[in-house]
Amino acid sequence: MALHSPKCIGVLTSGGDAQGMNAAVRAVVRTALQQGVTVYAIYEGYQGMVDGGDRIRALSWDDAGNILHRGGTVIGTARCPAFRERDGRRRAARHLLEHGIDRLVIIGGDGSLSGANEFRQEWPDLVAELLCNGEIDEPTAQRHPALMIAGLVGSIDNDMVGTDMTIGADSALHRIVEAIDAIGSTAASHQRTFVIEVMGRRCGYLPLMSAIAGGADYVLIPESPPPDGWEEHMCELLRRDRAAGRRDSIVIVAEGAQSRAGQPISADYVRQVLEERLGEDTRVTILGHVQRGGTPSAFDRGMSTLLGYVAVEEVLAATPDSEPQMIGIRHNRIQRAPLMQCVEQTRAVAQKIAAQDYAGAMALRGGSFTEMFEMFKRLAEARPSVAPPTRPRRLAIIHAGGLAPGMNPAVRAAVRLGLDRGHTLLGVRGSFQGLIDGRIEELRWGDVEGWTALGGAELGASRQIPTVEQLYAVGRALEIQRIDGLLIVGGWMAYEAAHLLYSERERYPAFKIPLICLPASIDNNLPGSELSIGADTALNVIVQALDRIKLSAMAARRCFVVEVMGRYCGYLALMSGLAGGAERVYLHEEGVTLKDLQADVEHMVASFQDGRRLYLTIRSENANPHYTTDFMCALFEEEGRNLFDVRQAVLGHIQQGGNPSPYDRILATRLAAHCIDYLTQQLERGSTESAIIGMVEGKVSILPLKQMPDLVDWPHRRPKEQWWLKLRPIMQAMAQQPEGGSN
Ligand code: ADP
Repeated sequence: MALHSPKCIGVLTSGGDAQGMNAAVRAVVRTALQQGVTVYAIYEGYQGMVDGGDRIRALSWDDAGNILHRGGTVIGTARCPAFRERDGRRRAARHLLEHGIDRLVIIGGDGSLSGANEFRQEWPDLVAELLCNGEIDEPTAQRHPALMIAGLVGSIDNDMVGTDMTIGADSALHRIVEAIDAIGSTAASHQRTFVIEVMGRRCGYLPLMSAIAGGADYVLIPESPPPDGWEEHMCELLRRDRAAGRRDSIVIVAEGAQSRAGQPISADYVRQVLEERLGEDTRVTILGHVQRGGTPSAFDRGMSTLLGYVAVEEVLAATPDSEPQMIGIRHNRIQRAPLMQCVEQTRAVAQKIAAQDYAGAMALRGGSFTEMFEMFKRLAEARPSVAPPTRPRRLAIIHAGGLAPGMNPAVRAAVRLGLDRGHTLLGVRGSFQGLIDGRIEELRWGDVEGWTALGGAELGASRQIPTVEQLYAVGRALEIQRIDGLLIVGGWMAYEAAHLLYSERERYPAFKIPLICLPASIDNNLPGSELSIGADTALNVIVQALDRIKLSAMAARRCFVVEVMGRYCGYLALMSGLAGGAERVYLHEEGVTLKDLQADVEHMVASFQDGRRLYLTIRSENANPHYTTDFMCALFEEEGRNLFDVRQAVLGHIQQGGNPSPYDRILATRLAAHCIDYLTQQLERGSTESAIIGMVEGKVSILPLKQMPDLVDWPHRRPKEQWWLKLRPIMQAMAQQPEGGSN
């Protein structure tokens, strides 16, 4: 029988580096230390395990500090041929046993994860061999009869089946979309065409999503090669878009793009085709390693933190008989899945592509991927000019509520997809007051050109909802403009206004038209959706600001109280605390008591006495009406005496600014497409049903507008159920160093 031994965890990053790996390492280290478990970093991936010595080192709480914002992996990664050999793995086992490590968290791609599994399967034989050779003693062999592993997928390609996102993919998308935006502006100035090659040898995620977020004209991905004769079709689309007012043309090519016959399609081939057939100056940009670089996005920091936390739980709970698990994210929740099944299915995609079974490859990629590909094609093929519709329908788009980055891409997608359905699209300028004043104009294909990348709201937004006196005027405006359906893109006020119109239908028959609300609010406080457009952009803005704030504090011992937006909803505060590495987050949902503040001050003082230089707290703007940001700063300053000083940073409206993040653009486009489909369906059926749309557990959800009152906490203007509140313990685990030192 195995003797009892304290648990030890090793963590390594292997294969290609990916932004967010550091956040995962930090989470693994801090979660393990919280549980009283020693955690070792294995430097340079499997190479460090094979080499041993000082490449395997115990990490302290502070060793995992100040790495969250860094790209790449601070513990190094490598490709290690020696680990592919049994002898290399035997040495690796010996080096792990020197430290008593028999639990591993591996952060890498499918190669690294299957290597880990092979190692795990071989472990008992390796241990027996080491014993037989006298390299380990009997008690050591008995204490460590099995190796237990948990895998996290670090791969910018987002190519692993079994997780919706891999570590690094969102950051890579940020880099690509930044590049497309930059190239787009020079291309537009010269009316040029650009072909951009994007990473993705076997996976079209980055090319497809960047084509949607970057507003490209055409995309080539490995899983779904274009039909024969695609060259002419592509040129035709580009010609048509130019004629409709587009000044730049952008084609995205995956590095693994191929024809239906399996022949590679290179960016240079696409350039030649475009130059020859369109006679245009065409340039190729290969983004290459820029895509792996830079600071991780807010999403990658947050997600990797959650994954690292769960991986430690998993590997500590594992027994010699447990099946190794991969920890990933499915439907907006952290989930475990059998590791080798995920690796095998991932390899099956590559095999299907190689065997030219493209339908099979797309099926393995999943429903959302296929939906997004079809949606991109619809958007790219949407007719620039309106063909005379058989049954003319006039759909109006209006904003209400505060500004949210992503409103413009939503309008762009709605206009183009609405035109494609044969509708006339109307833009209401200046929200409901604009509607009353008749500030309504027809939006054509070219009018929304370039709106994917634009922050703000070209149509204008306002926090006013129509008053009872204005309802008649709103009704008249809808009648005069012969509006058949209304898409309301906005925040809380948009939802309240929509509900008001819906409830007043009997009194004002003009309101008997289908309405749909599309959630756009940085506060992420809207019913019927776990995420609203704008929240991801705001989160990125906050996290970048926190990075700067932290750097500014380097020279002093300082406590920062950073106030973020959200009204009564603590989403931005909690998620930025998680992604930005805050020590404490104050939320209205939890409340703030004097007792809490006292405990915080004591903790703060003790940790500065212990050598801390920075204490970062984030306060949601309405966390408590009395314990304001000013009050908290004064309290901390007074109690901190000469130990540390206190500064506040109220981030304010910069959180609403900025160009929409890739995720917000994609979400805006996806939801707008469903809204147009919804309105079209209602009109075809002669129905005046109205709805709210959103994302629930990773899927598009459409709920009847009449259900809205049941879903909300009216006084606090937020949903009754907030999924993200469950993440609070993880935030705390990352921040609260266990008593008794750093290791
Ligand atoms: P990725 O993890 O990004 O897919 P690789 O496939 O290059 O990257 O794998 C990284 C490292 O993982 C390899 O250099 C090797 O050390 C190890 N590895 C990969 N596959 C195996 C395997 N089948 N057996 C043992 N080790 C492997």
